[in-house]
Amino acid sequence: MGTETVIVVVEDDPNIADLVELYLRRDGYRVHQAPDGETALKTIRDRQPKLLILDLGLPGRVDGLEVCRQVRATSDVPIIMLTARDDEVDRVLGLEMGADDYVTKPFSPRELVARVRAILRRAEGPKPTGAAVHTMGAVEVDTGRREARLNGVPVALATREFDLLQYLAEHQGLALSRRQLLDGVWGADWIGDDRTVDVHVRQLRKKFGDLLSLDTVWGVGYRMG
Ligand code: CA
Repeated sequence: MGTETVIVVVEDDPNIADLVELYLRRDGYRVHQAPDGETALKTIRDRQPKLLILDLGLPGRVDGLEVCRQVRATSDVPIIMLTARDDEVDRVLGLEMGADDYVTKPFSPRELVARVRAILRRAEGPKPTGAAVHTMGAVEVDTGRREARLNGVPVALATREFDLLQYLAEHQGLALSRRQLLDGVWGADWIGDDRTVDVHVRQLRKKFGDLLSLDTVWGVGYRMG
């Protein structure tokens, strides 16, 4: 695995872009850079990457947010956002952006590559054979079609939001700790912190509202009713 896996790095700072490319190539990935949003959209169309590393702050008319939005309109390619500030994280993982993960600058290229590897391993992993539809009141999780529905209407979810919802649905009635959720959804070698879980839960609650019977279990984590 690796040699033919194409990654597009969208970053206007050439030092950061080159550094990221260096580490990714060392890991066997093929890398294409794009220094601004318009180039990025064209490069993504032309190269059909398996993953996107996307700086939030880009020069010109099309910023990282807009790139993300446009890509998401037609594709569920995994996106790792590079953010300059910690307080952008909620937005980045949020509904409007649909990114899968984020890294706050300054970051360690090694950590970034570890995340790339983890996300790709998951994305390319064996498809579940036991496709099922889990029903929790008005909420349905269709693992075969990777579709979540609210009163029968599909709800747009980011990749990890769906994964988390599916994991919770498959463990209905059990109180799961944030660590268990991180291990189960993001993988045991995940480097992120508990807040990642909380941010995704917040998004799920925002998207499904009161009809999602997902309880906070004080001192533990979360439980799907
Ligand atoms: Ca930038």
